[in-house]
Amino acid sequence: MYYSSGNYEAFARPRKPEGVDGRTAWFVGAGLASLAGAAFLIRDGQMAGSTITILERLTLPGGALDGIKAPKKGFVIRGGREMEDHMECLWDLFRSVPSIEIEGASVLDEFYWLDKDDPNSSLQRVTEKQGQDAHTDGLFTLSEKAQKEVTKMFLAPRAEMEGKRINEVFSADFLASNFWLYWRTMFAFEEWHSALEMKLYLHRFVHHIGGLPDFTALKFTKYNQYESLVLPLYRWLLDQGVTFRFSTEVTDLDFDINISAGRKQATRIHWLTGGTPGGVTEGSVELGEKDLVFTTIGSLTENSTDGDQHTPAALNEGPAPAWDLWKNIARNDRAFGRPEVFCENIAESKWESATVTTLDARIPAYIEKIAKRDPFSGKVVTGGIVTARDSSWLLSWTVNRQPHFKQQSPDQVVVWVYSLLVDTPGDFVKKSMQDCTGEEITQEWLFHLGVPVADIPDLAANAAQAVPVMMPYVTSFFLPRVAGDRPQVVPEGAVNFAFIGQFAETTRDTIFTTEYSVRTGMEAAYQLLGIERGVPEVFNSTYDVRSLLAAMSRLRDGAELTLPVPGFVQKRIVKKLGSTEIGELLTEFGLTS
Ligand SMILES: Cc1cc2nc3c(=O)[nH]c(=O)nc-3n(C[C@H](O)[C@H](O)[C@H](O)COP(=O)(O)OP(=O)(O)OC[C@H]3O[C@@H](n4cnc5c(N)ncnc54)[C@H](O)[C@@H]3O)c2cc1C
Repeated sequence: MYYSSGNYEAFARPRKPEGVDGRTAWFVGAGLASLAGAAFLIRDGQMAGSTITILERLTLPGGALDGIKAPKKGFVIRGGREMEDHMECLWDLFRSVPSIEIEGASVLDEFYWLDKDDPNSSLQRVTEKQGQDAHTDGLFTLSEKAQKEVTKMFLAPRAEMEGKRINEVFSADFLASNFWLYWRTMFAFEEWHSALEMKLYLHRFVHHIGGLPDFTALKFTKYNQYESLVLPLYRWLLDQGVTFRFSTEVTDLDFDINISAGRKQATRIHWLTGGTPGGVTEGSVELGEKDLVFTTIGSLTENSTDGDQHTPAALNEGPAPAWDLWKNIARNDRAFGRPEVFCENIAESKWESATVTTLDARIPAYIEKIAKRDPFSGKVVTGGIVTARDSSWLLSWTVNRQPHFKQQSPDQVVVWVYSLLVDTPGDFVKKSMQDCTGEEITQEWLFHLGVPVADIPDLAANAAQAVPVMMPYVTSFFLPRVAGDRPQVVPEGAVNFAFIGQFAETTRDTIFTTEYSVRTGMEAAYQLLGIERGVPEVFNSTYDVRSLLAAMSRLRDGAELTLPVPGFVQKRIVKKLGSTEIGELLTEFGLTS
């Protein structure tokens, strides 16, 4: 496998690899990583879909990529996916998956046309004092000191950031900036999270720095991601003959590891099949070296628990099959990673979201005031999250294009609310989010939306229905880590197995993204089948001087460069540079005049 960029490889059609016909493939988990991996085996490896089986513990595909109407509770989205144009592997996948909305179009066509007609942007990113404009006005407010810290992190070798937390690397100056407020709420970073991950994000999204404050950097699907992404892909895989076995929990994998020969082979998959009247049954399959197994290790939504309008979402700290499986696997070989780094610190990896469905026109009127757009227009509404800066929960909320579910009635609005600080008491309800029912979370949100205090209890009880969801491991991949904590997608010497999903190691890409899961699925399929085409490299903006200069200018809130030399020396340097391409570029990007 190798990485490539550009049209030559993008449009190339790989030939069928040798020996494909004698193989079978097994996937553990029916999340996006597996669905993508199976699709690449079929499309690019030309493997028959009928030889592929996907084993999933739950009763439906999609894993973390959800959107469901829970019986008696209401609509639930655990998250809303911020997406962008440079999800290279993801768009490479969805260009080939037929849309279920538009006859003859692909999912990519559908997404592209939607964004052309209705591009995303936010008209109100931050509020304070119960729904007032916080006037962050697109500024980053990074002091010279904070800018230096960002530059230092950007230039530091990866190893220097390993095992460190963000608040060990940045000073109070940085943590008080608008930049950090935008960043942490949009990407769900906490101060105690990994400095390495923050560094990787800075590189990965450097081309989007200018689009962070108003979210012109982002794009969203038409409906929730289950309906817009998972369903079309699932249907396409079924059409190709792929078998899905739901209610099947994989408990272990056996390996034959020959250290001296440097050869590692998976030899058996063990599972439990449940949900039948007869109870749980054990099953397994033997794997020869031509039988491939792709295992999703860990899961950000493992053990996530729904509450409802009158019940808080419980924190489930009990047995977690996704993590237990990885722990069992990791016992076989040091190269299979260290799951405990990610799954044994729930206090630092949990957070909670809630899906609020409004039931009449009263709450949408307040939404419209802040979004400055009609929530019922069918078009972009908030254009990404709105953060209540002075919320003690650090609460953010978003209204995507409505309807967000096909089943939604036209007078409802589905709102996603989340908090980064789930243990601190709220400003209206005086309880932590973790202890709140759906109704109480709605009250806290309405307070920060600017609803008069006297009206809050009635509106929360009668004009909305909310489902809170606690996710114990949702940011587990952001916990500080060092090289080797995540196994390689295909560990050295592996002949028939790969690790996929958010906890497998792939170069330069950033976790907590759909792209990361698709990328690991693609890399695994390409490596194990020996597919001759290149895997698209992570978008290379971090090596593009234009992106770097544009980012630098924005990080300085448009201020020109000042060199640590006397003014007349700076003038002379700028004049000299002015006669070169460097000077032209500096001027073009507003760093000198
Ligand atoms: C709240 C939230 C917000 C998000 N925001 C964004 C965003 O803004 N942008 C973006 O691009 N991405 C976002 N994501 C991330 C994205 O949705 C996920 O990274 C991606 O969907 C993960 O897919 P996966 O296949 O790697 O893992 P998962 O979806 O976790 O899939 C793993 C699957 O394996 C199954 N499984 C686990 N253990 C076993 C076992 N032992 N046996 C059988 N099956 C098992 C699980 O049930 C699950 O279905 C967000 C996710 C969440 C939850």
